[in-house]
Amino acid sequence: MIISMRPHATREEIEHVCERIRDFGYKVHSIEGDTRVVIGVVGTGDVTACLESLEATPGVERAVRISAPYKFVSREFRPQPSAIRLNGLEIGGDEFIVMAGPCSVESEKQIMETAEGVAAAGARVLRGGAFKPRTSPYDFQGLEEAGLKLLRKAKEATGLAIVTEVMSDRDVDLIAEYADCMQVGARNMQNFALLKSLGGCGRPVLLKRGMSSTIKELLMSAEYIVAHGNPNVILCERGIRTFETATRNTCDIAAVPVLNELTHLPVVLDPSHATGKRSLIPALSRAGVAIGADGLIVEVHPCPEKAVSDGAQSLTLQDFHRMMSELKPFVHLWKELRAATRSPEPAAV
Ligand code: PEP
Ligand code: MN
Repeated sequence: MIISMRPHATREEIEHVCERIRDFGYKVHSIEGDTRVVIGVVGTGDVTACLESLEATPGVERAVRISAPYKFVSREFRPQPSAIRLNGLEIGGDEFIVMAGPCSVESEKQIMETAEGVAAAGARVLRGGAFKPRTSPYDFQGLEEAGLKLLRKAKEATGLAIVTEVMSDRDVDLIAEYADCMQVGARNMQNFALLKSLGGCGRPVLLKRGMSSTIKELLMSAEYIVAHGNPNVILCERGIRTFETATRNTCDIAAVPVLNELTHLPVVLDPSHATGKRSLIPALSRAGVAIGADGLIVEVHPCPEKAVSDGAQSLTLQDFHRMMSELKPFVHLWKELRAATRSPEPAAV
């Protein structure tokens, strides 16, 4: 069950509702938004009696039964799609948002050149890892805070919002100072300590699907962040591991509409990690637009052959420019369809 309190319900009303819920033998998990409190009810008990009682309790606006284990992120909780605000942009709104940039922040020249190039081609968000999750401990691990400073510089020069990865709960406060959006990588999708601390980070979170994670597990991870106080979560399909070896991962393109059925959260597609191969990125990007993703996150490097990570899947600036031009008619259709079918609401409760 989820109980939405009326906007500006009093502390006494909220406490009283929580007490009633506990009287029925349930546990309470509330999140406080700018204008209202939403209470998640977990456990087992007499759902019908509890709902009836709460509907008649002062301060309650709506009490609904939710069968999905991921309550706050489910469509049952919020039938309308959520639009997440990010530095003046909306992800999940009426614009198709492209995030682009290198896998890793490597140098001032590299990040500035990339930022200017992708902004000129129509990207709205600059990606780039300053803290890198690498399979080998001997590989480049990222420039860390120096990389964050370079991202800030690129933002100042171009106006692009910044999305960058956080790998540990210890780094959340530092990265939140620089980032407009905190990326949780595939390898950390179930780093529960990290997810919990992102609940209080004050920034939207881009949550990437783990490489062997089910859609339900992805949604449960999103639920951790929301249940800990942060409703601003963007999901990302980035390919999963299968028996196929022709691509780095297998792009689960159906995950996008599946997620659109199950959750109100926006979904972006990462065609770069999904395929590992530069030549496949434009086709997968078109697929993402066609299937109703809210945006893309794409790796771009001024000189992929010199990239310290993921060069083989990085587009050159010229490739990216061409791809963005070729995507235009598809994005135009996407906008028409979106205008005809949706009226998104801000995610904040
Ligand atoms: C990345 O975005 O560079 C990255 C490491 O992605 P993923 O976590 O999806 O592998
Ligand atoms: Mn990468």
